[in-house]
Amino acid sequence: MYLSRFYLPLMKETPADAQIISHQLMLRAGMIRQGAAGIYSWLPLGYRVLKKIEQIVREEQDRAGAVEMLMPTIQSAELWRESGRYEAYGKEMLRITDRHDREMLYGPTNEELVTEIFRAGTRSYKDLPKMLYHIQWKFRDEIRPRFGVMRGREFLMKDTYSFDLTEEAARKSYYKMFVAYLRTFNRLGLKSVPMKADTGPIGGDLSHEFIVLAETGESQVYCHRELIDMAVPGSDVDFDGDLEPFVRERTSLYAATDEMYDEKEFEKVPEDDRITARGIEVGHIFFFGTKYSAPMNCVVSGHDGRNVPVQMGSYGIGVSRLMGALIEAYHDEDGCRWPVPVAPFHVGLINLKPGDEESDRLCREFYAKLQGAGIEVLYDDTPARPGEKFARMDLIGLPYQMVVGPRGLATGHVEVKERHSGERIELTPDEALDHVTGKIISALVPA
Ligand code: ATP
Ligand code: MG
Repeated sequence: MYLSRFYLPLMKETPADAQIISHQLMLRAGMIRQGAAGIYSWLPLGYRVLKKIEQIVREEQDRAGAVEMLMPTIQSAELWRESGRYEAYGKEMLRITDRHDREMLYGPTNEELVTEIFRAGTRSYKDLPKMLYHIQWKFRDEIRPRFGVMRGREFLMKDTYSFDLTEEAARKSYYKMFVAYLRTFNRLGLKSVPMKADTGPIGGDLSHEFIVLAETGESQVYCHRELIDMAVPGSDVDFDGDLEPFVRERTSLYAATDEMYDEKEFEKVPEDDRITARGIEVGHIFFFGTKYSAPMNCVVSGHDGRNVPVQMGSYGIGVSRLMGALIEAYHDEDGCRWPVPVAPFHVGLINLKPGDEESDRLCREFYAKLQGAGIEVLYDDTPARPGEKFARMDLIGLPYQMVVGPRGLATGHVEVKERHSGERIELTPDEALDHVTGKIISALVPA
């Protein structure tokens, strides 16, 4: 992409209402623009990151055996009356009336709709187990939308639903999602800690929130230090194998959000290992049995031929919220510092003197060769001054910068800067290409 053609409306001033760094940087770097409170347009740069996050989430759902579909944003109130949630959901639900006076709503979540879909298409235990998911916009009329995309009113969520015959089988589905979540956040470059969450009237131990530690997080959390750097299963993990021992090990150390905090239990953790911190909830997984299938009559015939309601769970990831969490984890005083897998472009190619024949020629050659190797390049071909070009590239935070100008070329060199470490090296053009290509390709292979 040539920067002269791209749409990158940077902001000079930090807007006063943006309290946390991720919100400030998303506005300053021209990634989002507010339409109304908690409702944003995704500008080209931000949209590229959102799609990359979404794709990693998708790949890990697919790997775990979930099947993608797409349900609408607008739903009929009728189904929510069947489940009993239409009244219960309260003011967070955006209720709409159509021209025929039918009550509709903008979906805050999809348990009812997916349960209806599943009951219409499933008869027998032989059709189980199944996991369905979609990545779709949700609307919740949050009382206090804030922190930009962290707590929006319109936000992108990945929600998966599992369907099983027995509670024991549902447990297996739950473990699959548990492992898939750890892999997903790890691939995004985030350290997530699964924490025990409230199961309400359902009871049991099958509800976890996945928390990324960050000073600006909305949740107060308590956990054992060892949980933060624990290994995550590799891409060879067998989702059809027995995942229970892994999950058991992963959940044996203390970790809870303030809703579930138990001082006595936490004090059993050796003092040096106790971490009290703030965190961002990026995912939530939940087994809820027959909470929706029973009232909505979503049944299958069991082994004895009698109908039983299916055992269900739901599994959410805040896709748009993750973008905020990523910036909270990866920035410095100059701007964003994107990890390669989610970077809007991999390389920022800076031409210090457009119009200089040799600089133009080499930049075009770099551009073509990098693109040919599958590397995404943002080519700054604009006439801006060098200082402005450097500051802009640092602000948008692409992982590598390649700087081409007459002074370097006089000695046959270009400069390569790694945004994360700030390290700069002078290389010949061929070396620079090899260096950058090698680094990026290896960072794109999932562990
Ligand atoms: P919270 O306690 O933060 O309101 P929740 O329990 O309402 O979250 P879920 O219904 O479990 O959230 O939704 C799944 C995921 O969607 C959450 O883990 C979170 O990452 C994301 N999410 C929820 N509400 C919002 C929001 N208003 N803006 C952005 N992301 C959200
Ligand atoms: Mg909520």
